[in-house]
Amino acid sequence: MTETLAWETFRATDFARSPAFLQGNRLQCGQIGLTSALARSTVPSVPPKKPAAVNLLMRPPVTDLPATASPRDILARLVAFDTVSTNANLPLLQWSADWLAQSGVDAVVVEGGDPGKGGLYAHVGPRVDGGVLLSGHTDVVPVEGQSWDSDPFVLTEKAGRLYGRGTCDMKGFDALALWAIAAAARQGVRRPLQIALTRDEEIGCLGAPELIEAMRDAGLPKASAAIIGEPSEMRVVTGHKGNLGYLVKARGFEVHSSLMHTGVSAVMESARLIAWAHACNAENAVAPRSEVAALFDPPWTTLHAGTFQGGTAGNITALDAEFLFDFRFVPGDDIPTWIDRFMSRIAQIEAEMQAIRPGTGFTCEEQFNVPPLKPEVDGEAEALARRLTGDNGTHVVAYATEGGQYQDGGYSAVICGPGNIAQAHQPNEYLEISELERGEVFMRDLLKTLG
Ligand SMILES: [Zn+2]
Repeated sequence: MTETLAWETFRATDFARSPAFLQGNRLQCGQIGLTSALARSTVPSVPPKKPAAVNLLMRPPVTDLPATASPRDILARLVAFDTVSTNANLPLLQWSADWLAQSGVDAVVVEGGDPGKGGLYAHVGPRVDGGVLLSGHTDVVPVEGQSWDSDPFVLTEKAGRLYGRGTCDMKGFDALALWAIAAAARQGVRRPLQIALTRDEEIGCLGAPELIEAMRDAGLPKASAAIIGEPSEMRVVTGHKGNLGYLVKARGFEVHSSLMHTGVSAVMESARLIAWAHACNAENAVAPRSEVAALFDPPWTTLHAGTFQGGTAGNITALDAEFLFDFRFVPGDDIPTWIDRFMSRIAQIEAEMQAIRPGTGFTCEEQFNVPPLKPEVDGEAEALARRLTGDNGTHVVAYATEGGQYQDGGYSAVICGPGNIAQAHQPNEYLEISELERGEVFMRDLLKTLG
């Protein structure tokens, strides 16, 4: 059976390009009133009109879903926003804020990053520390070059699965989190429930640090457990590696390659750095490992170059080369020492390049820096997630998440969310309906715990 609803065909990007959106976008942190009102005027697909501002501000929230909508209906709505990381995500956040407002949840949208982007947080329950935070990212990976059997931005049911970009990674969890906090507001909770929805996770976890800071600056009570709902098939994942990436650019000196001893090849000097990475990997593979490292596959820190461009001709020493270089750190590894080793190796090679031609060398631009999630001793988030799921296994994952950033921000954090990471980023990405249902059971049990 294929199900589509009329409003699902609305695309956030159409709206993001509209003058109304651009105007609304100038509003700053927390001032979502006018922006939201403008968003409302275009949902589902009506072009924005411009009535008097006073009317806009006084209008009650109008959304296309009732306050008591199911996680599945919310998921369908979220999937319909094309929030590929290159696009705006504010329309999705504004829709979410409006939908939550129907249940009396006062969500705060915090703009950050490129125009049209930001994060959202909300708090329900008493203004005290010790609540539970549900965290998800709102951006998704591109669909370009992938072959899909259905529109990736229309939630489509087939054979017990819900297809659509982001269903698994991770709008399924976002929908559950929105559903849960709305329900918490309507039923009332003694212990607080919070949600945090971020931008630009898929391009280096860029959004979580600013949202963590915004929540702190706003004096929001601190949750004692953060559940990061990346796909784990509702297993409790307590650790992942950290990921630090650089764009490395080499500048050489061009001569005819028959006289290469008088020039500097940016390609060949870069290759020395990559050869160093190989040597480090080989060393790491045989070095003694910690108990935490032993949980991972492979159980050591890895160094990797993922792309490489350079040179103009076979018989010219290359003037330029550039490559993406990254580390994946096992939790507990000494990251500052690794950075020192990397920079020292660059300095050594550079000195030899400059001995031949001054002005040659390397530049290094940090692209992302995602800290590892370290398994906690007696962590509150782990204990809570284990109670709710009944999962007592030991799980760590190879992919980086915002979990390490929440942990660095002082939260006890675990990963636990519906779906299998194998379906993430794929063409025909899907979430098993049974996974969404397990997620809903988790949220219902969480609400009882907070009751
Ligand atoms: Zn994700």
